Amino acid sequence: MLEKLKAEVCKANLDLVAEGLVIQTWGNASAVDRERGVMVIKPSGVPYSEMKPQHMVCVSLATGEVVEGKLKPSSDTDTHLILYRAFKGIGGVVHTHSLFATSWAQACQPLLAYGTTQADYWYGDVPCTRKLTAAEIKNDYEANTGDVIVETFKKLKFDPRQHPAVLVASHGPFTWGKDVNDAVHNASVLEFIARLNSETLRINPKIKPMQGVLLDKHFMRKHGPKATYGQR
Ligand SMILES: [Zn+2]
Repeated sequence: MLEKLKAEVCKANLDLVAEGLVIQTWGNASAVDRERGVMVIKPSGVPYSEMKPQHMVCVSLATGEVVEGKLKPSSDTDTHLILYRAFKGIGGVVHTHSLFATSWAQACQPLLAYGTTQADYWYGDVPCTRKLTAAEIKNDYEANTGDVIVETFKKLKFDPRQHPAVLVASHGPFTWGKDVNDAVHNASVLEFIARLNSETLRINPKIKPMQGVLLDKHFMRKHGPKATYGQR
């Protein structure tokens, strides 16, 4: 089942390696078929050099049970499931430990919007979650990681479609998008803006975020109801 989606998810996982966002097996990408209620995700611990579409694992969105595939799904499966259940508009999720985004997650700092590169993709900040409690780490850690992301978005009243990423405190970034390719693209942009923020604050540690009017202009011309960016 879902052969096309399995091929897309397999390619997305390999693209993360090709783009330098994932080394070793420190990352995972998934996609969802909402009509069937099935998530397709990378298997756990399979080397990228051997990874094929038929190794992808199909998991029920409702129950988390494996519905097809011989291998164990990614250890972060429960986090992905919670994101798909809470963020209805998304079709793909990516997790990496990319260098700069993970550095900001470890510093437990959001990425404030300092320029138009970020404003073209994020309607403001990339938020950072709170730290998990000891109890949340000991039991149902992966599900609690998903829950703390959802909690962060609720608290900030952020629309996940306007802020397609989060930094999980002391861990790393999760990104999402309309499909898995979009989620990979956002992971790549996130890494770039995390690096930009590091450089910007190194040059001027006192710089304030960009003007709201410029943020609006850039986000809305790409994503607003009257978007003018690109070809008609
Ligand atoms: Zn991780």
